[in-house]
Amino acid sequence: MNATTSEMLQQTLRAHGLRATPQRLAIAAMVLAHPTHVSAREVWQQLHHTYPSLSLNTVYQTLSLLESKGLLQRLEIDGITFFDSNPEPHDHACCIRCKAILDLPSNPVQPPSELAEWHILGERRIWQGLCPACRTSLSTR
Ligand SMILES: [Zn+2]
Ligand SMILES: [Zn+2]
Repeated sequence: MNATTSEMLQQTLRAHGLRATPQRLAIAAMVLAHPTHVSAREVWQQLHHTYPSLSLNTVYQTLSLLESKGLLQRLEIDGITFFDSNPEPHDHACCIRCKAILDLPSNPVQPPSELAEWHILGERRIWQGLCPACRTSLSTR
């Protein structure tokens, strides 16, 4: 993490009333500094060598805290919780083989007639398939 990124993340955390501890900054750097979709476990695996006292639970709680401040959103795919650095509503594509996750613009559809009585808040779509790299590697074997 370079000095500018660190400075930016500290400001973001403080602007949301969060203390910028070194562990929090390291977690924020992994999820907020660039577009990504990561699980708490992936974040923990990257950081626990540098921060031996960091538990998976703390990572999860920190990510949930960032989510509650609207800095992240949660995304469930195949029973795994990912944290998405883009908090705006959008659709996703997920490769069933390598689990690559791609952001897509949201493409709103009319709710089905069965939901006529509902107050609809939103709709999320996850396209599933094989990404181009996996298609290529499967067809050349
Ligand atoms: Zn793939
Ligand atoms: Zn996303």
